[in-house]
Amino acid sequence: MKKLLVFLMMAVMACSMMLAGCGGEKKEAKKAEPAKVLRVGTEPAFAPFEFPKEGSKELTGFDIELIQAIGKQMGTKVEIAGMGFDALIPALNAGNIDAAIAGMTITEERKKAVTFSDPYYTSGLIVMVKKDNTAVKSVNDLKGKRIAAQIGTTGEMKARKVEGAKVTTFNTQDEAALELKNGGVDAVIGDLPVVEYFLTKGGDKFAMTVGEKMEAEQYGIAVKKDSKLAADINKAMAELKKNGEFDKIYKKWFGEKK
Ligand code: GLN
Repeated sequence: MKKLLVFLMMAVMACSMMLAGCGGEKKEAKKAEPAKVLRVGTEPAFAPFEFPKEGSKELTGFDIELIQAIGKQMGTKVEIAGMGFDALIPALNAGNIDAAIAGMTITEERKKAVTFSDPYYTSGLIVMVKKDNTAVKSVNDLKGKRIAAQIGTTGEMKARKVEGAKVTTFNTQDEAALELKNGGVDAVIGDLPVVEYFLTKGGDKFAMTVGEKMEAEQYGIAVKKDSKLAADINKAMAELKKNGEFDKIYKKWFGEKK
């Protein structure tokens, strides 16, 4: 009987030690996870900056890898939400997201509504027409023509400046390109790196670019107006530039060209 009691006591002790051990481990695991979450908004149809991986909903692209590296550097988890390009600034202002990375050009107009990080990519606009179009050689030949652009973008702003042009806007650059393919418009104005990527991925079967790159544009990461998050992002980005990580991501998506 005594033996049984000792055995039982030992068993209880062993059990409670195991439980304590488990509890301790659980606490450790919780501590290891970064406490903060960076809620990032993007417009997920803008290859090669942000687009779904083939056969998956998961996003990839230069912007996605950059913001993930920035989050890691800042010690925060990154959660990415897709939305329309024209919904990003309202989402920032409403506090639904902390940052927006979406190949977003830093403009004076947008600077009134949001704060931008340091620029991270030099871009510009280009005109795309059908391959058999011999009349349009540059933006100067678009007067009075039908132009497609992505809604709320610098491409749309440029199109609206073309005298007498009929501008149609679409949710994505791809939809604007489809309208060109279907003959609904004479030209598309969009971001050069995105148009180029589109052409190399099969778009060149029906379309081509004409004229020179227009506007000197810089992409920046947007945060809520005057948020100190911009300084944290800049610090992390500067570190990634110093340690070679930024160049590694850049080269993966764009090769050597700058
Ligand atoms: N760079 C363009 C702009 O900022 C287009 C961005 C986009 O469509 N994702 O307006």
